[in-house]
Amino acid sequence: MSGKQMAIEYLKGVGPERARLLKEELNIKTFQDLLHFFPKRYIDRSKFYNINSLPQNNSEIQIKGKITEIEYVNQKRGKRMVARFEDETGVMELVWFRGYKWIRESLKINQRYVIFGRLNWFKGNASIPHPELELEAKFQNNLMASFYPVYASTEKLVNKGLSQRVIQKLVANLILKEGNAFTETLPKYILSHYKLISKIKAIKEVHYPKSQNNLIEAQTRLKFEEFFYMQLQLILKNMQRKNKIKGFVFSKVGNSFNEFFNKHLPFSLTEAQKRVVKEIRNDLGSGRQMNRLLQGDVGSGKTIVALLIMLIAIDNGYQACLVAPTEILAKQHYESLIKLLQNTHVKIKLLTGSTTNKDRKDLKKELENGELNILIGTHAVFEEKVQFKNLGLAIVDEQHRFGVAQRAKLWEKSLTPPHVLVMTATPIPRTLAMSIYGDLDVSLIDKLPPGRKPIKTLHRYENKRLSVFAFIKEQIKEGRQVYIVYPLIQESEKLDYNNLMEGYESISRSFSKPRYQISIVHGQMSSENKSYEMERFIEGKTQIMIATTVIEVGVNIPNASVMIVESSERFGLSQLHQLRGRVGRGNAQSYCILMSGSKLSDGAKTRIDTMVKSNDGFEIAEVDLRLRGPGNLMGIQQSGILRLKIGDIIKDSNLLKVARNTANGILKKDPELKRVENQLIKRTLASLSFNTNIWNFIS
Ligand code: ADP
Ligand code: MG
Repeated sequence: MSGKQMAIEYLKGVGPERARLLKEELNIKTFQDLLHFFPKRYIDRSKFYNINSLPQNNSEIQIKGKITEIEYVNQKRGKRMVARFEDETGVMELVWFRGYKWIRESLKINQRYVIFGRLNWFKGNASIPHPELELEAKFQNNLMASFYPVYASTEKLVNKGLSQRVIQKLVANLILKEGNAFTETLPKYILSHYKLISKIKAIKEVHYPKSQNNLIEAQTRLKFEEFFYMQLQLILKNMQRKNKIKGFVFSKVGNSFNEFFNKHLPFSLTEAQKRVVKEIRNDLGSGRQMNRLLQGDVGSGKTIVALLIMLIAIDNGYQACLVAPTEILAKQHYESLIKLLQNTHVKIKLLTGSTTNKDRKDLKKELENGELNILIGTHAVFEEKVQFKNLGLAIVDEQHRFGVAQRAKLWEKSLTPPHVLVMTATPIPRTLAMSIYGDLDVSLIDKLPPGRKPIKTLHRYENKRLSVFAFIKEQIKEGRQVYIVYPLIQESEKLDYNNLMEGYESISRSFSKPRYQISIVHGQMSSENKSYEMERFIEGKTQIMIATTVIEVGVNIPNASVMIVESSERFGLSQLHQLRGRVGRGNAQSYCILMSGSKLSDGAKTRIDTMVKSNDGFEIAEVDLRLRGPGNLMGIQQSGILRLKIGDIIKDSNLLKVARNTANGILKKDPELKRVENQLIKRTLASLSFNTNIWNFIS
């Protein structure tokens, strides 16, 4: 047993006060924590600048020279200390605005220093505020490596004297003292298979790398370890869930399915759809509860998959429900399913906020006595008590609206939980999805149905509005329909509403009655009015649908071929992709036109450019991920993936994949980790608990 678990206050140079700060500000409590406090970047300290050839920017640099003079300059509040600093090539200033009393005492005039800090340029003169200083002689002695670590820090730490330099020294001391006391956490066969360096070496090199190459080796090793144990935990959790939670057994495919499949299926399934149906069927027959995520880009055909597996539930004597995030979408699901099922004996009903009391009463009765096979509804509706006779399958079409937590509400009361399928149109790269959702299985529809013409996406500035309107008229002349969508952002709902109404008026002027008919749908309308307006558009009575983002999810109107997004710079990427997915559903060539003002932020420009360049939801999702970080992904907060210390699920996704496969392979052969060669893994794992981050273990 080494001293790594020792409280940080016992480290030389720390003490109780600093220990408290380290704990509060950085969550560093033990020696171990400090060694696993990895640098956020590195500075090449083998490089020195001359004062007469400094870079003309604000970079961090290093200079050798001496301080020849110190003076104090009065300023608005208090004063500042200015030191004249010279090397063989020139003179510059070092400046302190606070804490200079203490610094002044230790400064030695006319002795050679190495200074380090961020350049500041003012009227052509360079200075460095609050530089780090070290006597040159000492600097050479201290130099452990040419790359110096830079750690995350806080204002408070710096103000209390825990500067970068101090933290660097603390870590360096600790490595000297404890650096050889690390027990390996990965078995030899893994290390040698992937040519990973030892834990000891990795810890040393990650703080003070001797070369760029050593640094990469160290980071790779530590990232692998982090990913590997995280994946092991996730996979084990999934295995345990499967063993523990019994599910209804849907053992057969019967009449409902076969009749529909053979007689009423309006098209043949794509290979991707077939594969996914098969994956789901396997789950349903396994005797364990299914908990599966179905990913498929907009328009990839998830609805028919949902229907087919609901039919399997019915064939096995169970009921099924399909939940949608909005009333419009629930209704749309209902209508398309009714149509598909019209010549079958399957009984299906819709329950939303606008269902009348009488209908509601009948519906509840049929639900309870089992007459009703399929219930479609909004999420809100399920909050009021509906009682199924025997709900066997719940499908949540969440697009990207529902949070993970809400799902559980639906069936928390039933003894045996129904099988659950969550459908989402927010594509996440597959390994990433498995890592994020952890205890969900993932199916993927990765190909669109055949014959789709790729949507043409264009970016137009406001000053091209007239030609955009002319284009809309052309399209309408050819019998097409057009969406015009305005942003809706919670904080400025009123402003957005005004925007929308202004837009409506201006469009009404350019597209006047009776030649043109316009529908309008927005959040402040009653659902009755919304449905009415929607209906008119669906029936082709109106050619233009003006809407806020309420239409973004799921709406399927094949004759609509143009999507105009107003103020597109205000939309997120996945939202834009969702909106675009509303067109391109019929046979005609479809268009998505992104309108914007002339001033675009870098982010907005990247988003719009990405949309113009790519129709691929996965590619778009990756850009979105890079722009916004994984924190915005649905469900990710629960996953622990944000607590990673060194791995980055986006940048290191390949390594993540390798680690996941390795973990999977090991558990497949040795699910209880009984083999001799896996004892180290078992021990390491045992010292982890799921909710603490993986570095908090001691071996
Ligand atoms: P989403 O995955 O976005 O929910 P939908 O289920 O609404 O997509 O399907 C989009 C459109 O594609 C629908 O009009 C549907 O009828 C059609 N579709 C689905 N599967 C196929 C297929 N295999 N062949 C042809 N058209 C299909
Ligand atoms: Mg859909």
